[in-house]
Amino acid sequence: MKQDTLLAQSGARRDPATGAISMSICPSAAFQHPALGQSTGFDYSRTGNPTRLALEESMAALEGGARALAFASGMAAVDAVMGLFSPGDTILVTEDMYGGTFRFFERFCKNRGLRFVYADTSATEQTADILKQQEFRGLFVELPTNPLLKVADLNALGTLAKKHGLIYIVDNTFLTPVFCRPLDFGADVTVYSATKYLGGHNDLVAGLAVARDAELGGRLAYIQNAVGAILSPFESWLLLRSLKTLSLRLKKHAENAREVAEFLSGHKAVANLRYPGLSTDPGHAILTSQARGHGAIISFEVASHAEVERILASVKVFFFAESLGAAESLITYPFVQTHADIPADMRTRSGLTDRLLRLSVGLEDPGDLIEDIARVLN
Ligand SMILES: *Cc1c(COP(=O)(O)O)cnc(C)c1O
Repeated sequence: MKQDTLLAQSGARRDPATGAISMSICPSAAFQHPALGQSTGFDYSRTGNPTRLALEESMAALEGGARALAFASGMAAVDAVMGLFSPGDTILVTEDMYGGTFRFFERFCKNRGLRFVYADTSATEQTADILKQQEFRGLFVELPTNPLLKVADLNALGTLAKKHGLIYIVDNTFLTPVFCRPLDFGADVTVYSATKYLGGHNDLVAGLAVARDAELGGRLAYIQNAVGAILSPFESWLLLRSLKTLSLRLKKHAENAREVAEFLSGHKAVANLRYPGLSTDPGHAILTSQARGHGAIISFEVASHAEVERILASVKVFFFAESLGAAESLITYPFVQTHADIPADMRTRSGLTDRLLRLSVGLEDPGDLIEDIARVLN
């Protein structure tokens, strides 16, 4: 079945006893054994839960992966994926990435003996050179990057990952499987903050990891059960409900974002506009070749820190908040919010300045959004 059909029917056809079309929420912590040595397939909810399994199987099908696992947050999903590595392993990471992932790598994973090297993974040649300099075990890519929206060549990185025997991980939070399926380009695992577009309504925190092959999926399931950072049955159900409208929502998000970006591109108070949906954006061609949409995150610079402060205090339709990917449009100041934990020299090197603003364009009327931005920029 095509992706839109899978999405619309997420969680359906799983209860022949009642014919329920909406997957039921099953809060049971334990499940009765039919006899010694027998199982219904469910024993204890940390290991497996019917509502969570419906979500996990829906996601695996959407991505074309062998197995998906649902976690309590995006960070819990990233944590599980890092469990695939051993002390002493070095992982090459996109330098301009979500600040929380950077903090997790630097403040936690390093203490567990993992090592990280950061690079501009949108520069394929440079990435290839770095991979030649020492031994790596993993490649962790964010696409497009956050907040500068640089676009890596997933296929080229897939070839490099294969050549060097790396576990290739893509954080696909910004595009979701509706716009891009990194497993098709050689990624071994995708990770998501499902708090963002997959959830889409600013009403849940969740994470997902999807493995291309069953062996890796089995290892992630083992970690999920051993560590226990599972998604609750209620939130699994909410996420299944959100998946039904994912494709519709993303198309509208992207249409709105294009209109807002086109407005910003002609504005004299705006510098360094980044939106890969614009044909003038450096990431446009490569993203168009590997994705069905360009997402709805925009970043740009204004004249000064004082201007940032004034804009954040004056928006009326946009909310000043730190998240992305929901119905409501948000404006974020990455320098002090999402990316405060990235060292100053790294922020400067990648262009993450104290004048940079990030928009998550929501589902409102684009005219209202543009009017709001036009008013605060003037
Ligand atoms: C938000 C986010 C995360 C972390 O996910 P949580 O659900 O907040 O734990 C990871 N990666 C990206 C790209 C994000 O935007």
